[in-house]
Amino acid sequence: MHVPLVLTDFLDRAVEQYGDKTAIIDDEKRLTYKQLNARVNQLSRGLQELGIEKGDKVAYLAPNTTEMLEGFCGVYGVGGVMTPLNTRLKPADYQFILTHSESKALFVDEELYPLVQPILSKVSNLKHVIIHGDSQDDYPGYDEWRGKYSTELFDRVPLEETDIASLLYTSGTTGDPKGVLLTHRSNYLHALSSMHHLKVSDQDTLLHVLPMFHVNGWGSPFYYTANGATQVMLRKVDPKVILEKVKRHGVSVMHMAPTVLNMILEQYESEKPGIDQPLRVVIAGSAPPPAFVRKVEEDLKWEFIQVYGMTEISPLITTSAIRSMEQEKTNEEKYRLKAKAGYSMIGARVKVVDELGNEVPHDGKAIGEIVTRTNTVMEGYFKNPEATNAAIRDGWLHTGDMAVVDGDGFIEIVDRMKDVIISGGENISSIEVEGALYEHPGVLEAAVVAVPDERWGEVPHAVVVLRDGHNLAEGELITFCREKLAHFKAPKGITFAEELPKTASGKIQKVVIRKEFWKDRDRMVH
Ligand code: ATP
Ligand code: MG
Repeated sequence: MHVPLVLTDFLDRAVEQYGDKTAIIDDEKRLTYKQLNARVNQLSRGLQELGIEKGDKVAYLAPNTTEMLEGFCGVYGVGGVMTPLNTRLKPADYQFILTHSESKALFVDEELYPLVQPILSKVSNLKHVIIHGDSQDDYPGYDEWRGKYSTELFDRVPLEETDIASLLYTSGTTGDPKGVLLTHRSNYLHALSSMHHLKVSDQDTLLHVLPMFHVNGWGSPFYYTANGATQVMLRKVDPKVILEKVKRHGVSVMHMAPTVLNMILEQYESEKPGIDQPLRVVIAGSAPPPAFVRKVEEDLKWEFIQVYGMTEISPLITTSAIRSMEQEKTNEEKYRLKAKAGYSMIGARVKVVDELGNEVPHDGKAIGEIVTRTNTVMEGYFKNPEATNAAIRDGWLHTGDMAVVDGDGFIEIVDRMKDVIISGGENISSIEVEGALYEHPGVLEAAVVAVPDERWGEVPHAVVVLRDGHNLAEGELITFCREKLAHFKAPKGITFAEELPKTASGKIQKVVIRKEFWKDRDRMVH
């Protein structure tokens, strides 16, 4: 007998086991799992009446709200494909993604509606628009629309685990976003593996900090729902509000980018709000600057785990959670390990290989590309077979991320292939140079990129945001780096900036910074 792995299982279990438990806290609003399910049944019925069928794309443009989470549960009832949109794009980008994805319906938060309003008439495939909030321009308001349908159990469209569940667009850190197709099976297995490695339980209260539209953030609704955890919504990333919610709701876990964690540390240092109940764990989906892990674990008393992944693989495949054999190590050694991407999670084989495809030695020095063979891999990029064939070769997905492996088998991301600086034939990791800059107390944020150089081909250049009250000269900071790094790795120049360009999930877009310096010439893409 074959029982398919279908994402609707997760809410079903929560309703059965935890029906009267608080599922959602959204400012003053609270919903139990039963109440959430009733609303999800209404949503599925409404979608059915709109004519949404199996395989149809349903786009969502919303911050982390109850309505957004309902989408993740209700769209699958009719076999729809959840297509969440990044909330920080420009109208033209929405026009591109809504058209490219062939979305039939769009659910949009009332505050974000002005972003898409000018382009809606240009997207002919889009048949329905529903506003999370009050009705606008003849488009119905969500609650009124949903309220017309029965809350009774919805007779779902049968699905196979190989059916597509989601169409997610990559962050666009290195170029144009690509549409990633993920199946129910890959999302399901990812959820099982993540809940195991992150020790998710019904005792957990999650604060949704990472945006759900982004794959890192959106895997989490599945596994916290399956475990009957309480999920606290967050509209805007504001460190003050985050700390207040942590305190008020007894939050036990958060997933976030280190840039946001950094903001929280700053806020904490300036205010030291009394948090009686420390978080169980904070999970960061990116490499933190050095000394960061110690600060989080010793000052905030939060356990820190780093995870690594990408949209194409659902996303997570490694974790840096300390294993039994590392328990005996000193705290300093543990912090060093936790600051790495870590080791493979269940279901994923992960290797770091050289150009010939051979595994690099585990010596913490030899650099190679991370490749993975994982049961959470994408079906492919939507309508882009060339890019799919370039990414998946011989059964392995090539991540484009460069890494080393230490003697403990922990993988450490060194750089993205496109961000490595090749200077006089030497490879320089932009992340290593940034690490040196971050050791300076005046540096709030730093990005190091390759700039053209007559003699060396490329040299490292830093763009730096200073902390308030700090005034630094270019030469002073370069000298500081030269004391920490081999001379050829130290930045040859520094630009001071008010802020750095970032993606909606908080990643620094070096591709945007680099463009300024490569205006009139082509860069060899490695
Ligand atoms: P695009 O593919 O459009 O350029 P993107 O790669 O940033 O955008 P995502 O899929 O959101 O889009 O991000 C995955 C990438 O994020 C990884 O390939 C890697 O470069 C980076 N990343 C993820 N986890 C970590 C980590 N723990 N440490 C360092 N980098 C990480
Ligand atoms: Mg990518």
